[in-house]
Amino acid sequence: MAHYDLIVVGGGAGGTGAALTAGRLGLRTLWIEKERTPGGTGVQSLVSVWQPAVSEGTLPRELAETLAARGQAHYISPALDTPSGCPLYRRDPGAAYTDTLRRWADAERGLIGAGVAYTPEAMSALLVKLAAEAGVELWIDTVCLQAHTAPGTDGLRRVIGLTVDRGGQRERVAAGFYVDATGDLAVARSTGCETVWGRESRDAYGEPSAPVEHEFRLNGWTLCFECRPGPDLVALPTECFGHDGDSAHISELPDGTLNVNLVYQLPGEVAWRMGPEQAREALLGNIARRWPRVQAAYGLEGYGITRVAARAGVREGPRLVGRYVLTEHDVRAGKRGSHHPDCIAWTDHAMDRHSPDGGCLESEQGPVGVPLRCLQPGEVDNMLVACRGASFSSLAASAVRLQRTMIELGEAAARFIAGSRQAPEQREMTR
Ligand SMILES: Cc1cc2nc3c(=O)[nH]c(=O)nc-3n(C[C@H](O)[C@H](O)[C@H](O)COP(=O)(O)OP(=O)(O)OC[C@H]3O[C@@H](n4cnc5c(N)ncnc54)[C@H](O)[C@@H]3O)c2cc1C
Repeated sequence: MAHYDLIVVGGGAGGTGAALTAGRLGLRTLWIEKERTPGGTGVQSLVSVWQPAVSEGTLPRELAETLAARGQAHYISPALDTPSGCPLYRRDPGAAYTDTLRRWADAERGLIGAGVAYTPEAMSALLVKLAAEAGVELWIDTVCLQAHTAPGTDGLRRVIGLTVDRGGQRERVAAGFYVDATGDLAVARSTGCETVWGRESRDAYGEPSAPVEHEFRLNGWTLCFECRPGPDLVALPTECFGHDGDSAHISELPDGTLNVNLVYQLPGEVAWRMGPEQAREALLGNIARRWPRVQAAYGLEGYGITRVAARAGVREGPRLVGRYVLTEHDVRAGKRGSHHPDCIAWTDHAMDRHSPDGGCLESEQGPVGVPLRCLQPGEVDNMLVACRGASFSSLAASAVRLQRTMIELGEAAARFIAGSRQAPEQREMTR
């Protein structure tokens, strides 16, 4: 059985941060992804846009600037020259990466600032290249089926191996440490860690915006697509489905194609019950209903849909209940109220629930810090969770799930693991 220092499961934003950082720190790293390319939601679900937000991560900047230098990413700002006056995010030749770290272009008019838009295929190709350069072994088309545990120290369990399906062959792999970056906690759930679905009741953490009783309601799913001037290249179903309206987040990609995110399309709990394939059909039906209205609102008559994401974008699934649960209190307290000595990432996105009763709840006190303990399960001592399923309440998760923040969680997880493997005196030096 192959043995590594670290196995990172999941090739999305969190997995990218963990695998590339671990490889660069010299850890013998295996990176597992069930699809044929890394990149996760950003690539498979065509969410190839980074909203403006505070970010201190070095890797997101490196990825954006590397792609931008090759014309495979660029910076976008709101343009208001649409028939409805709704912003369409167009290439901004005057913007630089640092501009994307400021959230508002004009808070009074509700205009968010500059973001990053990238070509999905270019991002996955870059990740493959950087993984190879960092000595990371990348296994695509490999699904983690099960984690195996044994008793560890202090009453905790240890993960002692994973059973994976690698292109149809079952294999067992093992490492000293593991990072679950699967978004939906494929590893953590299989080890029996405590997890939760849906909105916690108000008395769970005293969150003012939480429902009185627990509710199985989840952030909505969205099927993103791309369009260009010309005919439709994708046949939409004749049967229209679901929520109406012309709201959309539309961003210009480096080659001039527009990326369309219809924002709220289908409640997450309904989509989870349907399953990915049926939900994708329903979401296609929703695009069929709304595309003509969106075209009119944004002046896109004459534009045709060139491709639709292979996988619907999932905003929320199960979440870890770890050593610390980030809540609405942390988000609202922001930097002023943050007293976490183990803070590993900052972000300042709104609590954005993407549901019919959703809306954005803004934090008034600036960025919120995410403590390392949100990545640490209470039950297992050699696994961290670095993805949108980390230990956040439903409300807090809706603020911190951005791709750059997830990359940062992965970077921090890898640094922590590298530090844990060093002798105590070296550990002090790297703190
Ligand atoms: C429609 C939509 C719009 C969004 N808009 C923005 C935006 O504008 N800006 C922004 O920054 N963020 C945005 N987000 C949020 C952001 O994209 C996600 O929260 C983030 O990408 C999640 O990263 P992750 O690493 O947690 O999960 P993912 O990116 O989903 O990665 C998880 C990976 O694990 C793999 N995997 C799962 N199970 C297994 C298994 N058992 N074995 C092996 N591999 C497995 C999956 O295939 C996937 O590649 C949006 C999200 C959605 C859905």
